[in-house]
Amino acid sequence: MEKTGIIIAIDGPAGSGKSSVARLVAQRLGLVNLNTGAAYRAVALLALREGVDLEDGKALGRLAGRVRLEPGGVLVDGRRVPEGELRAPEVSAAASRVSAHPEVRRVLLPVQREAAERARRAGGAVVEGRDIGTVVLPDADLKVFLSASPEERARRRAAQTGREGEVERIRRAILERDRQDSERAVSPLRPAPDAAVIDTTEMGLEEVVERVVRLARAAEGRG
Ligand code: C5P
Repeated sequence: MEKTGIIIAIDGPAGSGKSSVARLVAQRLGLVNLNTGAAYRAVALLALREGVDLEDGKALGRLAGRVRLEPGGVLVDGRRVPEGELRAPEVSAAASRVSAHPEVRRVLLPVQREAAERARRAGGAVVEGRDIGTVVLPDADLKVFLSASPEERARRRAAQTGREGEVERIRRAILERDRQDSERAVSPLRPAPDAAVIDTTEMGLEEVVERVVRLARAAEGRG
């Protein structure tokens, strides 16, 4: 494995293929994969479990202090949270609301940066989220912003979760999350000015992975 220390930021809305692309690019290049959405989901899960009001930014910020990010997952109070619990639809909806609070983002910012720095020293990382290229790691070696039409994103989510009959409901949930994520005052979802924007609506997963791997090799060459 080549130890390059490269940092690749992959941002984009729900269902744009971020997680699959990030995982495969990391595998292909021998890099660590950090999924920052898992940290927001962990705060949401804690809030739902402990009955914390989703509008109470201060209390949510305190919950965020119990979250750590590591390759392939997230720790709460030092224990790994099962992926299935983080992915529940009510946690997805709550994560979006939780992430709008500046107190939460402020606490999770160093958590994400420290995880990325550890990963960089271990050889490099693919870091995925909503504001990685714009806010968390503005000096990333490569920034990619993935997009796709809401219809296509809903179709992918439905297929992924075995809920093919619910595409329309999922499309509405996705549009609502997009609205919350792009209209929030702090760190709204938008491409960094220097990001490579890839519309994946008509692309297969492998094609997107290839494109990002090529961009990463070019970025390494420049580094
Ligand atoms: O990527 P994922 O769908 O797991 O993210 C869950 C939620 O966490 C998103 O809807 C978004 O509101 C929030 N998030 C964020 N900033 C990040 C990653 C995720 O606000 N860097």
